Amino acid sequence: MDLRSENPFWLLKNGLLNTYPSLEENIDCEVLVIGAGITGALCGWHLAQAGLDVVLVDRRHAGFGSTSASTALLQYEIDTPLYELSELIGEKNAVKSYLMCLDAIYKIKDIAEQLGDDTFCLKPSFQYSSFKKDEETTEQEYKIRKKHGFKADLLGRDDIKKMFGFESANGLYSEDGAQVDPFHLTYKLLDAITKKGGRVYDSTSVTTLTTGGKSAELMTERGKKIKAKHVVIAAGYESQRYLQEEVEILKSSYVIVSEPFVPVKEFWHENALIWETAHPYLYMRTTDDHRILVGGLDDDFYNPKKRDAALNKKSRQLHEKFMKLFPGSVFKTDFSWAGTFTETKDGLPYIGQVNYLPNCWFALGFGGNGITFSLIAAEMITEAIVKNKANIPPFFGFDR
Ligand SMILES: Cc1cc2nc3c(=O)[nH]c(=O)nc-3n(C[C@H](O)[C@H](O)[C@H](O)COP(=O)(O)OP(=O)(O)OC[C@H]3O[C@@H](n4cnc5c(N)ncnc54)[C@H](O)[C@@H]3O)c2cc1C
Repeated sequence: MDLRSENPFWLLKNGLLNTYPSLEENIDCEVLVIGAGITGALCGWHLAQAGLDVVLVDRRHAGFGSTSASTALLQYEIDTPLYELSELIGEKNAVKSYLMCLDAIYKIKDIAEQLGDDTFCLKPSFQYSSFKKDEETTEQEYKIRKKHGFKADLLGRDDIKKMFGFESANGLYSEDGAQVDPFHLTYKLLDAITKKGGRVYDSTSVTTLTTGGKSAELMTERGKKIKAKHVVIAAGYESQRYLQEEVEILKSSYVIVSEPFVPVKEFWHENALIWETAHPYLYMRTTDDHRILVGGLDDDFYNPKKRDAALNKKSRQLHEKFMKLFPGSVFKTDFSWAGTFTETKDGLPYIGQVNYLPNCWFALGFGGNGITFSLIAAEMITEAIVKNKANIPPFFGFDR
């Protein structure tokens, strides 16, 4: 797949943070992870921490897939509001999945601190009502979140104007959120994996996967054989090829990043993560080098040519939308990129196994909360492998 346009901001900002060899020999390992993006790196890190002999392979350079295109807002609010998710999977399960995402934010914080990743930063999150008609559903969402003890405030028009400087009838403000540089964190994780004895190979494409008995056998494009007791498929949006079930809803998404603002400024209240109720939604965050990032305007197609051809127009539209919210501000677009993006029917990830691929585990952190889901997948799959017993909720499963 062609996952993104050239030059996403994180790649340019960080450059090549490390380099890994391609696989040039046959190897054995306990766990083979396909994919060295943020999901594979989180899985690999958890597995290595648990003392397992882990190998990661990636057909690209590590982190060069969707991870480098991600805008990496870390929120416990998934793309499907809690009140809607409750209707889909039951209130208890919906609350459980929201709580897991909340927990994941703080677990990523701990990992980032442990690894010395200084790009992670806790941030409040604010979702405003895009239209008058959304006022009621925002209130409904507020009520169900309060009922289950989430720390959320319902802001009215005056508060929003005062705190954020723009007009909206109401919105939900939450203290619990974060942002990170996903490419940077991925390399920190990979570094820690190799320090624990794990092996990372990039420019190594898995072409065949055969499972059965007590192990799996994989072949690479260059004819090298990998034998593993377990395989974790963290191949991002390219994981569909291993599945009989159609789980991905492919979209195209667009992002712009401003020039840095100097002197350092609080652009709006605590430089919170901002998003809206409309779908697809416009969203904003800041970066650690004092820029504003604006993303959204998703298209309902996977067509990389069309996606990249639309980038200039979409960049202008994102800029216009930002200026409409914050008239009079000086936002000079410095970088822009487009990325393929995958949603699921309910906003939840796919984590676990399918019966036709024994010894294989899927870690598919899809949707706008892909990264928090990746953390959840990494923990659950590691626990399942270590304890030889899976404890993965059915609402993350493939037959839901
Ligand atoms: C524009 C955009 C904005 C986003 N914003 C957010 C956000 O704000 N918050 C959030 O949480 N998420 C967000 N996401 C989603 C998030 O970025 C993804 O969920 C996450 O990056 C997926 O990481 P991954 O490691 O699973 O996939 P990838 O980074 O794509 O990594 C998978 C890797 O697997 C490798 N691979 C695939 N097939 C093979 C094979 N056969 N052999 C070897 N290697 C293989 C690929 O080369 C790739 O590097 C956004 C995504 C996009 C595109």
